[in-house]
Amino acid sequence: MRRITHWIGGKPWTGEARRQGDVYDPATGQIRAKVDFATAAEVSAAVAAAAQALPAWRRVSLSRRSQILFAFRELVRRHSAELAALITAEHGKVASDAAGEVARGLEVVEFACGIPHLLKGAFSENVSTGVDSYSIRQPVGVVAGITPFNFPAMVPMWMFPLAIACGNTFVLKPSEKDPSAPGLLAQLWAEAGLPDGVFNVLHGDKAAVDGLLTHPDVAAVSFVGSTPVARHVYETGAAHGKRVQALGGAKNHMVVLPDADLDLAADAAVSAGFGSAGERCMAISALVAVDPVGDDLVARIRERIGALRVGPGADERSEMGPLVTRPHRDRVASYLDAGVAQGATLAVDGRVHPVIGGSPEGFWLGPSVLDHVTARMSCYTDEIFGPVLCVLRVRSYEAAVDLVNASPYGNGVAVFTCDGGAARRFVSQAQIGMVGVNVPIPVPMAYYSFGGWKASLFGDTHVHGTEGVRFYTRGKVVTSRWLDPSHGGVNLGFPVSS
Ligand code: NAD
Repeated sequence: MRRITHWIGGKPWTGEARRQGDVYDPATGQIRAKVDFATAAEVSAAVAAAAQALPAWRRVSLSRRSQILFAFRELVRRHSAELAALITAEHGKVASDAAGEVARGLEVVEFACGIPHLLKGAFSENVSTGVDSYSIRQPVGVVAGITPFNFPAMVPMWMFPLAIACGNTFVLKPSEKDPSAPGLLAQLWAEAGLPDGVFNVLHGDKAAVDGLLTHPDVAAVSFVGSTPVARHVYETGAAHGKRVQALGGAKNHMVVLPDADLDLAADAAVSAGFGSAGERCMAISALVAVDPVGDDLVARIRERIGALRVGPGADERSEMGPLVTRPHRDRVASYLDAGVAQGATLAVDGRVHPVIGGSPEGFWLGPSVLDHVTARMSCYTDEIFGPVLCVLRVRSYEAAVDLVNASPYGNGVAVFTCDGGAARRFVSQAQIGMVGVNVPIPVPMAYYSFGGWKASLFGDTHVHGTEGVRFYTRGKVVTSRWLDPSHGGVNLGFPVSS
């Protein structure tokens, strides 16, 4: 059985593993590898490697850092197909989706290549007579990144390219469900010339995470995952004196106003609801149809779902793959019966959707639609994180905005309309971090920042873009005087400019 182990100090870990986890191929239901789970000693070894590499790395010039990032970018681009294949094999998403994930991660690497420009400070000459002032940004130290299963390459790449470009060293704790892609990324960093210990990968579960959150030499933590764990990471990390950004779960609404182009809206709802089997933090899971479009919209969605090809991610004909694990598949499917028991209508039952070319042992669930859902039903209040679209019908624009804003989550939202004024008002009123207008998955480009509001983000800094640079650096302001014959001698007063 293949063993996946840690990458510490520029090489694979050679120690024994006391605990391991199973890594599945979701399309066959078979175990494809064993992944090591870090002990406290291995957490310490990874942090020590990062701490040891820090002083030299933060002294490396910005030009040299940028050259290494360019080299890494080229290597990731060259190995994109290999990375995508690893993602498909362990996560289950279809090949084109896995390739898209790698491409979006690469955009952050490309943004980080511009680090000399991003770290420029400000300079003011003569803030007082003969005195100059300037601001600089310096690395925070050893940074830990803890990431979820649904984007095993892209979410880590939201974090480490910028953290490393800013002069920090990094310990990545990827999801134990699909851990192979980060191992390949570590090898590519080494090939790009990154010094040993600047990027480390530590595999494991809660024990590894808690070890990082409480380790005195970890200065900052970036987390992406579910809301309960995000809250735990934020509270524990902050209690141990760390800077923390913890991105949590989501329940993303798509509001369809009566004047919307219903074919566009139906295409968008199906793409954003069932792409990657609904296992995206920006997936649309609540479709809010403003009267009277509900029946027409649901009919168009059903028609499109009927034509979707569900099958193994590695099969180029598949449009939707399996779910990541058997327990997750069963939990998602349980919301179909729960929804019906609570009064919803099962408009499309994904349990009977044909699976083309898939093994019966795979973790399959086809696209499903629960209609006439209300805000009290568990299929609406819980994050399902699978291919289940809930349709809620409301009477007015105002009711739609109230519903969206009453949600405890605030990751993404989309409005579909042909009325620019209505869209503009919606953008202003939605209490949500990322808003789409006739765009169902409004994921910001790398040079903007990604993040939600409310229970979708603990901490106040979003990831990548200029907020990412701020998170991975500390500001310092320098006031300097080079003595001039007119320096003025002793003065016990508070410094004021003159
Ligand atoms: P998860 O919260 O179960 O796991 C995330 C990470 O935390 C993993 O590395 C895991 O090993 C670790 N972990 C799990 N339980 C832990 C515990 N009790 N204590 C400490 N660490 C723990 O999330 P997941 O199932 O891997 O990913 C899906 C979730 O991630 C969904 O809720 C989704 O919305 C969310 N997500 C959010 C965003 C975003 O940008 N807001 C992006 C992607 C995914």
